Amino acid sequence: MPQIHNFSAGPCILPKTVLEQASRSVIELDNTGLSLIEMSHRSKPFEAIMAEARQLVKDLMHLPENYEVLYLQGGATLGFLAAPYNFLPEGGKAAYVNSGTWAKGAIKEAKLLGEVEVVANSETSNHNHIPDIRAGVYDHAYLHVTSNNTIFGTQYKTFPKPGIPVICDMSSDILSKEVDASQFDLIYAGAQKNMGPAGTVVYIVNKDKLGKTGRKIPTYLDLAQQIDKESMLNTPPVFAVYVCMLTLRWLRDLGGVKAMEMINEAKANLLYNEIDGNPLFVGHAVPEFRSNMNATFRFKDESLEPIFDAMLKEAGISGIKGHRSVGGYRASMYNALPLESVQALVDVMKEISTSKG
Ligand SMILES: *Cc1c(COP(=O)(O)O)cnc(C)c1O
Repeated sequence: MPQIHNFSAGPCILPKTVLEQASRSVIELDNTGLSLIEMSHRSKPFEAIMAEARQLVKDLMHLPENYEVLYLQGGATLGFLAAPYNFLPEGGKAAYVNSGTWAKGAIKEAKLLGEVEVVANSETSNHNHIPDIRAGVYDHAYLHVTSNNTIFGTQYKTFPKPGIPVICDMSSDILSKEVDASQFDLIYAGAQKNMGPAGTVVYIVNKDKLGKTGRKIPTYLDLAQQIDKESMLNTPPVFAVYVCMLTLRWLRDLGGVKAMEMINEAKANLLYNEIDGNPLFVGHAVPEFRSNMNATFRFKDESLEPIFDAMLKEAGISGIKGHRSVGGYRASMYNALPLESVQALVDVMKEISTSKG
């Protein structure tokens, strides 16, 4: 099989060793005589998997004692609703940053439960930067931010500190770089962008801040109840949690988040240097807000796309077609993508520039 360089935006590349071990578990988990996906989630082996998967997030992100980790379902999309249910009091007001498509999705859901003030918005420049939040006093229940805008290729380098709780959708850059989690009361992240397969979403919660909205919260969305039941209030997505656990072990064994951050920086620098140095291409995001996870770029002359696409295919480069709202290309460089894959892409960019420049 020829090597494929997988730049997919999500679901996305996972470490090969993880895929191998995960596939074995479908036949038989360790030496239990049972497949992972045909055993009870209340069995000893699965309880150990859930416990380790939660603990690894705590360790890798250096979470404070009062933070809990959950593996739930419904994707980040249900997180859009879980956030206001748990943090927005009845009749309360929340502040949101509209930095892209997913942020807008979060705003839409929050409006179901209360008043939303958009305190920063990059819409008029097609979200090519992270907008500053407005100056002034914040008396909102919380501020919601999206740490990495998967579609537009922008990323917070430092987060705003408005003096109220901050909630973060960290779906597409969780565990890609060191972040002080204690600046957030809630982090949620769909696993399929950087830490596992589709089917589970990680919540990182300051449990001291729960239970203060006075709302009746639907059982599944009530993070306090989920914590109480140790993320097993209902049947958890056993396979997805297991693959997350394996991916987190891989990350730990590679040296943890700091080591990962340095690799991710090397990959991003390699690609952005080519985007900037190659006369055929132009980047979408303003350089100071460029994402190390998703790089968005296009040809100055878009008629070159069909030739480039054929060259990419020939080189085994997959999944870099841009999202329809930005056009051009998007190279997603999540944790498991090796530097060699970025080099392969850069080589094709150089090649087309030599022949067409
Ligand atoms: C992909 C993505 C989502 C949506 O995730 P689902 O798990 O599909 O609901 C939300 N936010 C961000 C930043 C994303 O990248």
